[in-house]
Amino acid sequence: MPKKDLILLALDESHTLKLMDRALQAVNYETAIAANIKVLGRLLQETTPALIMVGETFDGKDGLDIIEELSERFPTLPFLIYIEKAKPEYVKRIFKLGVGAYLAPPLRTDDIVGIVEGTLKHAHRVGDWLRREVKRTTSSLKKRAQISESERSRLETVINNIHDNVMILDEDNHILLVNPAMCASFGLNEKAVIGKPVLDVIQHPDLRALITSNGLHDPLQHHEVNFPDGRVASAQLTPIPDIGYAVTLQDITYLKEVDRIRNEVVHTVSHDLRSPLTSVIGYTELISRAGTLNDSQRDFLRRIEESVQHITALINDLLDLGSIEAGLDTRREWVQLDGLLRYTLDMLQGQINAKHIKVVTDISPDIPALRANPVRLRQVLDNVVGNAIKYSDKDGEVKISIHAEGDQIILQISDNGPGIPIQDQAHIFDKFYRGRNMDRQEGSGLGLAIVKSIVDAHQGRIWVESNIGQGSTFFIVLPINSPTIPTGRK
Ligand code: ADP
Repeated sequence: MPKKDLILLALDESHTLKLMDRALQAVNYETAIAANIKVLGRLLQETTPALIMVGETFDGKDGLDIIEELSERFPTLPFLIYIEKAKPEYVKRIFKLGVGAYLAPPLRTDDIVGIVEGTLKHAHRVGDWLRREVKRTTSSLKKRAQISESERSRLETVINNIHDNVMILDEDNHILLVNPAMCASFGLNEKAVIGKPVLDVIQHPDLRALITSNGLHDPLQHHEVNFPDGRVASAQLTPIPDIGYAVTLQDITYLKEVDRIRNEVVHTVSHDLRSPLTSVIGYTELISRAGTLNDSQRDFLRRIEESVQHITALINDLLDLGSIEAGLDTRREWVQLDGLLRYTLDMLQGQINAKHIKVVTDISPDIPALRANPVRLRQVLDNVVGNAIKYSDKDGEVKISIHAEGDQIILQISDNGPGIPIQDQAHIFDKFYRGRNMDRQEGSGLGLAIVKSIVDAHQGRIWVESNIGQGSTFFIVLPINSPTIPTGRK
């Protein structure tokens, strides 16, 4: 019997994966298992799957994020997601993304096959006319000689009027079409380059690397192309079935510049503010020594001191962030994370007592030391554990676990506080981002930005899982032996 459609399975190694694989093969579907995101990218390039089944998390990435990114590149490809538990917020997100259905335990063979068949049937119906259209336009491109004059000029008009750089290559990397923006960026003569191998024509190392590399094999990667005049573009390769692929470059110089200026302004202003603040603190201390103060004067002074302390803490956070992002955090020594946690809990004991928070720790024995900057890791713990306590209600519970797995240490901090709205979750690691409904808590929105930059500097990963009303869990994974890679400006 001929094999039916190909189903790609992008789930971490598990019993569920094996069950799905067996169930689909039993009814004659062809299956391919992606061991990780890179392999998934390669499979997408080398095969034509009819459907992709993605795990809730796959290769350390959120399954829905993977689907969101991939469906931008393969808009007609149907996806299914397997989730451990149908949490309402997550399910809402699934449907919002246009993923029509999901699978959740308990899984039966019939359910797996039923949902795959249903999704394929739907996708075939919706995609049929779309595929016909794509085929009609693209197959005419394949043999340029056969493109009617009107069709070709219509296509050229569209591509020529796009501001982004666009070039269409055939499967053997010969140039089929190139727009004026691309010609201007790379000094090409359109008439002379059509039909030529792209690598004979493009000398720019970043773009050559993109074309020759496995750029196509890793659809989740972003590629930057830097021009000698300082311009920066974001480049992408998009496969065009039966033709080859499109190379598109979007100018992001402006965005890069805005980001650089913003960082520079924040850094300079923070520096400049620090010295006048030191004098303000100095003089407020002197006032009380200059003579006797009445009660309201003492109260005013106390308020001034509190405000100055607040601004000083903010400025120190900004300066910290600046130096970590600039790659200046290169100190590495062997650090016991469980030992650092004890200091953090000691420091937060006052707040823990005041809110009657129950703190439960679950620390595996013999946690190995990791190579890290102890001061920075302490900041990570202070911020994340501090938030768990700050955002918990009275009598709440905070659980902290530390485990080693392979050459990584996994730190989990959970609370049963208010949870983080799904719309906020993507932004809480951004600078100055404060969640909605958080006005009642003090804060600057810089804590998690600092935490993320420290974790990044240690080649680790951080993410959050949270449900409204049920609390939040922050996961931090740190390599035991992170290399020191100074990046950015020095
Ligand atoms: P801040 O606490 O100063 O607002 P952070 O950068 O530490 O800034 O956190 C950013 C946002 O993330 C917070 O404003 C809050 O909305 C959310 N957040 C962080 N931790 C928690 C938590 N444990 N529970 C609920 N919300 C949290």
